[in-house]
Amino acid sequence: MYHGLRLSNGSQFFQIDTLLLTKGFAIILEVKNWNGTLIFEPEFHQVIRIHNEKEEAFHDPISQAEHQSRQLKKWMAIHGFPDIPVEFSVVISSPSTIIKSPSNQNSKKVMHAHRLLTNLNSIKKLHSIERLNEKQIKKMNQTLLKKHVDHDIDVMKFIKVNPDVILTGVHCPKCGSLPMIYHWGKWHCPACKSISSNAHHQAVQDYFLLIKPVITSKEFREFTHVGSLNSATRLLSSMGLLQKGEKSQRVYLKM
Ligand SMILES: [Zn+2]
Repeated sequence: MYHGLRLSNGSQFFQIDTLLLTKGFAIILEVKNWNGTLIFEPEFHQVIRIHNEKEEAFHDPISQAEHQSRQLKKWMAIHGFPDIPVEFSVVISSPSTIIKSPSNQNSKKVMHAHRLLTNLNSIKKLHSIERLNEKQIKKMNQTLLKKHVDHDIDVMKFIKVNPDVILTGVHCPKCGSLPMIYHWGKWHCPACKSISSNAHHQAVQDYFLLIKPVITSKEFREFTHVGSLNSATRLLSSMGLLQKGEKSQRVYLKM
């Protein structure tokens, strides 16, 4: 189970409150500790909360969770994982909260915390086929942790890996394999033959996150396996990062 996952699908980040991964399916739980009376109005993508005689409108957590599940499916495809069902539920943590849904269409998607287990069991029955084997689930666990981006915590501590065991090289944005080869101004994937012009962006972000928040041209070359110093400098300086220092002393900073 994961809490507060923050993942990226290229340019866009998406955040998942709680994710449960099983061999047959994944489920996103959007937990809300809202008190009072909640009126779900899916047609307007909003929730009205009435609490202490005050009415407040919130962004509908069902559409939020729905969006996250679409993004997670896309993320899985990008990283070459099998297409598994991604379910979602909105969980209301306080048992005294009154849930109302005039249209009734989302009654299965919103529940009190004490209903969660029953609900999970019925979802489990629905997806009884094992779509991921041991190896795939392990790989997905590793990838989720590796791709999780959080600026507030020490990622190296979080994923408990030694910097020496980080695999260097540029990952293929399409199939995830390592390393891509830089040739004639483009990144080439030997595994799936796809070509990218900006695959090194993710590698630099990984470097910032996993190693340190500054990088030199030399370190970039080592990390991305770019042979030419000129190419390395060109690739780095085109990323729009903050720069400090001159010539070989120049460092590029995480923004
Ligand atoms: Zn590839």
